[in-house]
Amino acid sequence: MNLTSSIGYPRIGEKRELKRAVEGFFEGKTDFDRLTLEAAALRKRHWLLQKDRGISFIPSNDFSLYDGMLDTAFMLNAIPKRFAGAGLDDIETYFAMAKGYQKGKVDLRALEMKKWFNTNYHYIVPELEDDTDFSLRGDKVFAEYAEALSEGITTRPGLIGPFTFLRLARHRGSGVTPRTRDAVAAVYGEVLRRLNTLRCESVRFDEPFLATDLDGMDLSLFASLYESILPEKGGIRVLLQTYFGDLRDSYDVVWRMDFDSLGLDFVEGRRNLELVRTHGVPAGKTLVAGVVSGRSVWRNDFDASLSILKGLADTMPAEGIVIGTSCSLLHVPYTTRHEASMPEKYRSHLAFAEEKLGELTTLARLFGLSDPSSDPALVENRALREKKKNLAEFNSPEVRARVAALKEEDFSRGAEFAERIALQRGRFDLPPLPTTTIGSFPQTAEVRSLRSGLKKGSITPEEYGEGIRKMIRETIALQEEIGIDVLVHGEYERNDMVEYFGENLSGFLFTENGWVQSYGTRGVKPPIIFGDVSRPAPITVPWIAYAQSLTKKPVKGMLTGPVTILNWSFPRQDLPLGEIAFQIALAVRDEVADLEKAGIGIIQVDEAALREKLPLRKADWNAEYLDWAIKAFRLAVSPVRGETQIQTHMCYSEFSDIMDEIKLMDADVLLIEAARSDFSVLDSLREHNYDKDVGPGVYDIHSPRVPGEGEIEGMIEIMKGKFDPASLWVNPDCGLKTRGLEETVASLKNMVSAAKKVRGRLSK
Ligand code: GLN
Ligand code: ZN
Repeated sequence: MNLTSSIGYPRIGEKRELKRAVEGFFEGKTDFDRLTLEAAALRKRHWLLQKDRGISFIPSNDFSLYDGMLDTAFMLNAIPKRFAGAGLDDIETYFAMAKGYQKGKVDLRALEMKKWFNTNYHYIVPELEDDTDFSLRGDKVFAEYAEALSEGITTRPGLIGPFTFLRLARHRGSGVTPRTRDAVAAVYGEVLRRLNTLRCESVRFDEPFLATDLDGMDLSLFASLYESILPEKGGIRVLLQTYFGDLRDSYDVVWRMDFDSLGLDFVEGRRNLELVRTHGVPAGKTLVAGVVSGRSVWRNDFDASLSILKGLADTMPAEGIVIGTSCSLLHVPYTTRHEASMPEKYRSHLAFAEEKLGELTTLARLFGLSDPSSDPALVENRALREKKKNLAEFNSPEVRARVAALKEEDFSRGAEFAERIALQRGRFDLPPLPTTTIGSFPQTAEVRSLRSGLKKGSITPEEYGEGIRKMIRETIALQEEIGIDVLVHGEYERNDMVEYFGENLSGFLFTENGWVQSYGTRGVKPPIIFGDVSRPAPITVPWIAYAQSLTKKPVKGMLTGPVTILNWSFPRQDLPLGEIAFQIALAVRDEVADLEKAGIGIIQVDEAALREKLPLRKADWNAEYLDWAIKAFRLAVSPVRGETQIQTHMCYSEFSDIMDEIKLMDADVLLIEAARSDFSVLDSLREHNYDKDVGPGVYDIHSPRVPGEGEIEGMIEIMKGKFDPASLWVNPDCGLKTRGLEETVASLKNMVSAAKKVRGRLSK
């Protein structure tokens, strides 16, 4: 039977034990020794489970108390000076880098956090200086290897490779200098030497950066790093592991190096199969074929996987093929066993991390059979897929027909922007530099208890409704008192901008325990798009209409856009993403139309996660993603008349390279995160001749700090210098739900008075 490979297991634990242990430590409820014990118990459980499922290569060092990139920085002694010199011990330093440190006179900002490629996992961005003193620090890799061995389990230690590490790190000095490169390679070489002394048999280097667009400099950096590391491997077999894409520009380069094995992603790596088939695999080398997705929650399609494996076996000896996951299982929930309340007709189609282990060994067995067609596992797998096709909720003829019937004009507002904005200005009578917010207001204890009361049944839906309406009344009154021009209802009825809509649309499934690590101790529980999506009834209309009835000022309708709903869910796999996006867009479109009918004049459709699933390769951006993503947004917002204003909000990312697409979204007002990037986003907008209204966030809402009036005035002045004041709005960077009420009121007051001051100078 072929060997199987696992390259990472969800470390948070099946009931998020790690979250509780680490947070308990942060809160001072447990000491570090206790945390260490709990962590060891989790590692042991995960190793034994993988052994029990018959996995041949079981990883170690995939565990982390916070994040693997941070662990790698630690291993390399890449501790920025401000942390190294703060007089903290090792553990304090580690967590200070992760989340900042404020005690006594020591006040350290955390390292930056970024999304790990196109996933929703966030890593800690290491910070390197020209004189960073790289050296092997700590013994995590070796200790975890020995720890597993003492449980009778031989593991394959995994490391984030030096190339990916260096390319993702933030370089404070002059980038990857030869000194930095050689020093980092030397540490990895030493790791290999020490693993040799432990008689370790194989090691894994993760280099997902190889799946991005590489230039000649990248390839030579990669080559020179491994040219100095691999001679140290001794008796260890080295696996070069890649994921999230294909090796279209490095396939030959990597095989020229002394790796023993190459791990390829055959789920997201579109071209990998073709690369192997046309360029071959050198004799004596093995291939880890990532055919079981580490990112989808669906059961594997055995026929599809077997056909990839057979395709590989045409090019190389079948024994050299190891059956693996496409990437670490970190990105999927732990197990479907804890989803007892999900009907079996749905649950049977899902495979989370634990179930995927079983799929690996089953596939390895089936692959070894000369004719697997009558094998019960394959028969069951095929039957299951048939069953899914026939589930009514899975395939709604009305929804399919509606998408199929879409015409070009469904994606456009009738009128051009110039005409629309003239109508809107006449309708709303707003001052120049109008003020507004992004939607949510602070989530007080009162709202939380209302929501949990409704869930537990301790209050009636009527009481809940009355409670929410009271909060809306207070929020409208508060905004009028502060003097904001375009109001919001506060979003009290939603706990989460995606889950709320998912719960009110058909086609979505929710898990009880389907947590996935997002960063550190934080997890998310993405809904699963199971069937065709539609909107059975209006969702937000009653709340917004109520809010509008309380004031003469405009209140914005507040919706989450189709691309964000899709990107923060687990999508179904049998439909192209673009088609799912159009289904969701039509549901949002119905809500947009109903809001307009209810007299709402301004509707905001948020696309916070617009960029998230952007392919790693630029050449794939448009055809594989942006073309349909932008169309989905346009489809959602275009049923309204010219005098109805469409606003959108975007945050969390870099926008400079998708400006043309942002223009194509054709929103009347773009409220965009800007404060943290010092308004550089305005420069890109200007360079791209952005010609619609813009509200660059004037202050960062991610900290409790209250920005002064003068500071905001300064920000507005900068904006004015870059953009026509007639098309500028004044607003915070993002929603206010994570902030306290007091600081929010103080900040908004300063924002409004700053806007008024600048306005006063405008009219002179
Ligand atoms: N309207 C949402 C809010 O204010 C937007 C949140 C977001 O961009 N992440 O909370
Ligand atoms: Zn935001």
